[in-house]
Amino acid sequence: MHLTKNSFRQKCLKKQKSASTHNKVYKDSLLNQKLSAFLRKNRFKNILFYYPLESEVDIRKTLVQMRKKSKIYTPFMQGKSFKMVPFRLPLQRKQFGILEAGNTHKKIKNIDLAIVPVVGVDGDLKRVGFGKGMYDRFFETLRKKPFIIFIQKELCHTKKYICDSYDIQGDLLYTPTKTLLLGSKKRKQ
Ligand code: ADP
Ligand code: MG
Repeated sequence: MHLTKNSFRQKCLKKQKSASTHNKVYKDSLLNQKLSAFLRKNRFKNILFYYPLESEVDIRKTLVQMRKKSKIYTPFMQGKSFKMVPFRLPLQRKQFGILEAGNTHKKIKNIDLAIVPVVGVDGDLKRVGFGKGMYDRFFETLRKKPFIIFIQKELCHTKKYICDSYDIQGDLLYTPTKTLLLGSKKRKQ
């Protein structure tokens, strides 16, 4: 059968869903170790972190560590896209059960790193998400493309090119046990 973005998305969602949950704490900690090691070696000043859903890798440990060294932002949903707000507690539960820091009127212009959850990735390390295109729309508003780290619970990757021109492309992908790197922009591992 011909692989499309949508059929691949369904396949990846199934894979993430059927992944065992009994070792979630262990897998989360493996990923946090990798991510924080990378962030110690490569300094970033302004970082967009996702705030994890139950089904996503919990990267809050790294988020809290990085608060001491960098400015941390989280997505704040607005219609079909989102804007960034400085991370601060308390969080509020919004659409899709997503937790968010409070709104702010401050305009944040630039980030140098974005940490983004993915459902799947294609041969160009382009992102397949839940199918709402929120991150695609958000990245279009940025003046300069930041370094992008994709995070995935279980590797779901195809070598085929199934994504669209507007889909965001990662520089690096971490699962708890695997790392994929987009050729050109090598950083210290
Ligand atoms: P996801 O990125 O969550 O996997 P898709 O890439 O399939 O989702 O995008 C979902 C919908 O959003 C598609 O109909 C797509 O055309 C639309 N979309 C994506 N990016 C943009 C954009 N930058 N501007 C307008 N519409 C967009
Ligand atoms: Mg997309």
